[in-house]
Amino acid sequence: MARARLIGVFCGKEESMEVLYTSTRGDKRAVTASQAILQGLAQDGGLYVPDHIPALDRTLEEFSQMDYRQTAYEVMKLLLTDYTEEELRDCIEKAYDGKFDTADIAPLREADGAYYLELFHGRTIAFKDMALSILPHLMTKAARKNHLSQEIVILTATSGDTGKAALAAFADVEGTRILVFYPKNGVSPIQEKQMVTQRGKNTRVVGIRGNFDDAQSGVKRLFSDGELTGRMQEKGFVFSSANSINIGRLVPQIVYYVYAYSRLLKKGTIRAGEKINVVVPTGNFGNILAAFYAGQMGLPIGRLLCASNDNRVLYDFLTTGVYDRNREFILTTSPSMDILVSSNLERLIYRLTGEDPSRCAALMEQLKMTGRYEVTEKMRTGLAGFYGNFATQQECAEKIRDLYQKTGYVVDPHTAVAAAVYDKYRAERSDDAVTVIASTASPFKFTRSVMQALGEPCEGEDDFALADRLSRIGGVPIPEAIAEIRTAPVLHDFQCSREGMKEAVETFLGL
Ligand SMILES: *Cc1c(COP(=O)(O)O)cnc(C)c1O
Repeated sequence: MARARLIGVFCGKEESMEVLYTSTRGDKRAVTASQAILQGLAQDGGLYVPDHIPALDRTLEEFSQMDYRQTAYEVMKLLLTDYTEEELRDCIEKAYDGKFDTADIAPLREADGAYYLELFHGRTIAFKDMALSILPHLMTKAARKNHLSQEIVILTATSGDTGKAALAAFADVEGTRILVFYPKNGVSPIQEKQMVTQRGKNTRVVGIRGNFDDAQSGVKRLFSDGELTGRMQEKGFVFSSANSINIGRLVPQIVYYVYAYSRLLKKGTIRAGEKINVVVPTGNFGNILAAFYAGQMGLPIGRLLCASNDNRVLYDFLTTGVYDRNREFILTTSPSMDILVSSNLERLIYRLTGEDPSRCAALMEQLKMTGRYEVTEKMRTGLAGFYGNFATQQECAEKIRDLYQKTGYVVDPHTAVAAAVYDKYRAERSDDAVTVIASTASPFKFTRSVMQALGEPCEGEDDFALADRLSRIGGVPIPEAIAEIRTAPVLHDFQCSREGMKEAVETFLGL
């Protein structure tokens, strides 16, 4: 903290104190935002966290007069303090442009008493586009600022959506290569087709014979494999991450919560300062953590509803204080939430320990060794702002159908999990605060599950034919993201075992 203040004064920016980033696991070396973005993961395997959370320095009324890009600047400048105004504005201009199919970037849609924050209007029709559209710009600027001469190798594990969004974002970006691992049998057919048809000389997609947790832990292992990174260094390569372990993913995600609030204020749905609830369909705990940070920065958020599917490890944690991944991994109709080890929870745990990296590291070590840890009663008090629940696949399908029958609005299965959890919350507690539900994917990305939920016959029809029918039923045109992969050739036909991930990296980089 002392160091941060000193730097702030030194740069003549007394009013805007520099934010530095340190590891959740004890590595005391503080790095700047751009360095944290370049590295992805801290060297000790921990996640980078800001040394303090700055407060929003515009009023809510001021935010209500801003468009998405202005909001993005006002939020991101507070956490990415070593970027100049010009650099940051340039990244934002390049990210939030015509790639989105609506000028609102993240429109709010009211249906059945809740506000759906549609985060799927970007290039790959999932909310991952919100952050991944800007990450390559933040990263290439960071490389220049830090005089990095090596080529950046983005290594990514995906439960389906991050992979495509990262591929689309980094394809043919100079000075970068991107390698994506996805669970071969754990993503939707459209998700897989989106990835394996990706163009770009610097891209590679590999299906692993395992589940998402295998892919994610494999990637983390590669990051801290000194032997591999040493050889890469010699050849002029350095790893970084496009997963939500990278703070360059998290920070842009804070923006849309501020934006959602300010739209409600602008419309007169809420008064300035009135608290809203936010429901987030959760997997790796990145999106909901961004909402938590938004609250810490002063956005009036009442309760954060953490919605899980049948892989209800977070629900169990929030209700018992025990995190236990020793259970069956269930493949569901909301595959991007099929996760038993939620990486970003580590950042919350770190805060619950009172920012004590040695205690956080000890809990993470327990998780690694036994698959389980328990937090103390005192730590649990820090979870008071969260409510956890889950929806089964059947409850999710019923929600898709009910909402459609009531309102004509079609949501994807992830969003439906959140909506079903919101129903449970309302039934349990009398809390009629205005509620925003993060709508994380277009229903066209999960066409078959959605059509089945709507009770439509699906036998013998491929996902594209189903998309045509869904377009008629929902009264929305087929997104460009689906149209463009329909006839696209498969360009990536690679598979490996869990143990074969290192070799896949070596082959891709020619090591
Ligand atoms: C990634 C994803 C989620 C989960 O988000 P986290 O930040 O990992 O919690 C939910 N829904 C969809 C559609 C996703 O792609």
